[in-house]
Order: sequence, then structure tokens, then C-alpha cells
Amino acid sequence: MIATQLKNIQHRIHLAEIAHHRAANSVNLLAVSKTKPASAIASAYQAGQRHFGENYVQEALVKQQSLSAFDITWHFIGPIQSNKTKLLATKFDWVHSVDDLKIAQRLSAQRPAALPPLNICIQVNISNEANKSGIKLEDLPHLISMISLLPNILLRGVMVIPKPSTDFSAQCKPYQKLVAAVNTLNNPLLSEFSFGMSDDLDAAIAEGSTWVRIGSALFGSRH
Ligand SMILES: *Cc1c(COP(=O)(O)O)cnc(C)c1O
Repeated sequence: MIATQLKNIQHRIHLAEIAHHRAANSVNLLAVSKTKPASAIASAYQAGQRHFGENYVQEALVKQQSLSAFDITWHFIGPIQSNKTKLLATKFDWVHSVDDLKIAQRLSAQRPAALPPLNICIQVNISNEANKSGIKLEDLPHLISMISLLPNILLRGVMVIPKPSTDFSAQCKPYQKLVAAVNTLNNPLLSEFSFGMSDDLDAAIAEGSTWVRIGSALFGSRH
């Protein structure tokens, strides 16, 4: 079941790369396994998936422990509480949801010396929604310049969760706005675009996503 869904999604990504003139294999699949058991991750792993995204630190740690024999790259994509940064810095390879300098400083300070720098993306609140995670687009250049100075984290790109919409062109708009703004910064560190979920995968790929974060289309709906 999960193996079939994984094949379907890989095929959709492949078709979207062709349709939107993206280079082959330029879009990575992040399998979002929040609320799903370790056995579901193991099934996807056995079908070839290596990158998994989790939203809740404690939940992720339990699964990581039972899957420690697997060569998984772990991504954190949820809201970050400052009392969890040590676990993030220790147990994850990527954090997509950094939206605060203090959090970034803690992640850098707490990253174990034996590990490579922690890969991070800055989360942008592209639709300017109240009470949503992410910085304002206009604050992006300042946060980039501060984060770039930190020794043990490596800035890779930007992440967004736009307001959901159903038609293709409305789905494209926030991504266009983000990509245009990032391109004007002309910063070679910012090569990764973490956007696109189960319901707007094609629009995200059309607009330049390099990491689509797919949960329900792969693992089934969450309850
Ligand atoms: C849950 C979640 C996803 C996956 O959403 P689906 O619609 O199930 O594909 C992607 N990104 C983030 C940040 C999430 O919290």
C-alpha cells in the first residue's frame, strides 16, 4: 500500500518536472510521517524512501529509536520551542522551520561537534497570516545575514506553508512571490525551496520547489 503510493508520488513528481521544465531529479521527496507509526516509515524505507519529516520532537524521538538501524535522514518541520533545540540539534539532520535568530543561535551552539553542520531553512510567513509561524518576507535579508555567521548550522534555503487554495494559479502565487524575492537576494546559500504538500504538489514543482513535503498522499489521511 505505502510502496504503491510512494511509486505514484514519485511518478507525479517526475511528470511535473517534465511538464514544468524542471531538471530531472531536481525535486526531492520529503515523506512527512507525523502521527504515523514507525512501521509506516519502515515500509516507505523498504520501498526506497530515505528522507522523513516529523513535526513533534517527542514523537519523532520514539520512532528514531525504534528505527536506529535504518539509514534515515531526519528533517524537522514543526514549530520550534526553545526548550527543544538541544534535541533538534542532536537528533536531526535538517530543520526547515527556523524563524527566529535566538532559536538559530541555540541550534548552532548545541550542535554536537562530531556531527556535520545542521542544515536549516528559514520559514517565511508568505501569506502574512496572523498567529502563523514564519518571518515576514521583508525581514528575510536581515535574518539571513545573522544566521550566516553561525558556525554549526548551514543555511540551505527557505520554507513556506501558504494558505491553502484549490485552484492551480492561486496555489502558484505565493510560491512565485517567495521565489522572486529570494532570487533578488542573489545569495548562493539559498538553493533549497521547501514547499508543496499533498494538495499542491504540481503548483509547487511548477514554481521551483526542491523539497515537496508529502504526508497524507503517501501515508493516508491523519485522524
Ligand atoms: C503535515 C505537514 C505536511 C504534509 O501535509 P500533507 O497535506 O499531509 O501532505 C507538510 N508540511 C508540514 C509543515 C506539515 O506540518
